[in-house]
Amino acid sequence: MNNLKRIDPRRPFTITAEGLKRITAGVAGAADLAGFFAPGSAHRELPKPRRTTATPQRAMLVAAHADRGALDDHARQTLAAAALIADAQTEIVLLIFGEFTGDAAASGADKLIELSMFDRRRFAPVDELNALAACIAAYAPAHVFMPDNATGDGDLGRRYAAAVDANVATHVVEIDATHVATYVQAQRAFASRGLPEVVLLAPNAVDPKLPFIGAGERVVWRFDGEPPVSSRGVVRDLGIEETDAAGLALEEADFIVSAGNGVSDVVAFEHLASTLGAAIGASRVAVDDGKFTRDKQIGATGKTVEASVYIAFGISGAVQHLQGIKDCRHVIAVNLDASAPIARRADLTVIADARETIAALTEAAAAARSASGTGAALLNSAAVAEGSLV
Ligand SMILES: Cc1cc2nc3c(=O)[nH]c(=O)nc-3n(C[C@H](O)[C@H](O)[C@H](O)COP(=O)(O)OP(=O)(O)OC[C@H]3O[C@@H](n4cnc5c(N)ncnc54)[C@H](O)[C@@H]3O)c2cc1C
Repeated sequence: MNNLKRIDPRRPFTITAEGLKRITAGVAGAADLAGFFAPGSAHRELPKPRRTTATPQRAMLVAAHADRGALDDHARQTLAAAALIADAQTEIVLLIFGEFTGDAAASGADKLIELSMFDRRRFAPVDELNALAACIAAYAPAHVFMPDNATGDGDLGRRYAAAVDANVATHVVEIDATHVATYVQAQRAFASRGLPEVVLLAPNAVDPKLPFIGAGERVVWRFDGEPPVSSRGVVRDLGIEETDAAGLALEEADFIVSAGNGVSDVVAFEHLASTLGAAIGASRVAVDDGKFTRDKQIGATGKTVEASVYIAFGISGAVQHLQGIKDCRHVIAVNLDASAPIARRADLTVIADARETIAALTEAAAAARSASGTGAALLNSAAVAEGSLV
């Protein structure tokens, strides 16, 4: 089989060893997957083979912004798409805007170029376009893959395609070595075409779990020479305006602290949320008890959230609640009961009293904040904590 099967973006995303079978490796030369999962050893991962050791004859480029030193799920899916459809003579070059401390090889990259002078939080579209164009000129990739997101990559991919008049496919939900497809007419129809020069991939179109690794070689690449487009005076970055996390729609929040029946001191919990700069969520029981308003409820009959970090205090993790946090990146549970279902979903479970943990965390966060004078140290400590969870 040659095709990467489409995962309907509206379908819940589950990662299992069986789920890997939804994606099949590309063309000749891709790693031999047989035996990667030995019969009866679904939970025992064998060391992964290199996707290819052949001398590269051509390249495919994946470009994305780093998210606090790592690639977010969407960027990893995009990288996986390229690695899965690459043949043995094709190397995958990963161009990262921003600092990157992750494992490029594990995500399928053969070469890694880190442009640490860029930062997702700074708006520099013309400089980024110049760097992207120069990198593409240097590697002459057959195709360029980028996550079609609203946080810089989707915009940059469109700018590049427009600048060089490249053919481009956006919101791609299905991809294999020969074609891409996307929904059109308000999802009533499906359009497909040959693989274009620039592919902007929709989220959750590809399972990012790879049965192989890339070479992961770091390349020092310097962009010098006259930039094709002058950035002088074209855009002015006015910086990021901080908004009160409490006023943010839960669906948009990147950092959520959530309270369940195990939280008795709501005032202390709200104080923690404001100290951390996190949005507040709650379980249905906590809402039904009148501790929080209905718009804070997370779960099957509440909101579905996609935070990078979700801390659940005193929440058992009933299936209806878990449904609302299935897209969260890192889940941390604080619970007295180590066997609570939330512990199976959580990346980290702290077996402790919610009240004591809230008090200790508030103190630590306040100390970090006053030491830095800004929220930056908190962001950094959150990023470090997050890094240790990956
Ligand atoms: C049709 C339907 C729809 C539903 N929709 C939703 C929904 O959208 N969202 C939702 O959340 N629920 C929903 N529910 C309810 C859901 O089934 C659970 O009843 C609910 O999520 C439980 O909330 P909880 O975990 O806060 O409370 P509990 O189940 O009471 O769990 C409390 C947890 O806190 C821990 N704990 C207790 N004291 C402490 C302490 N001092 N420190 C630390 N931990 C402590 C306990 O060990 C326990 O794990 C729905 C149910 C139905 C039938």
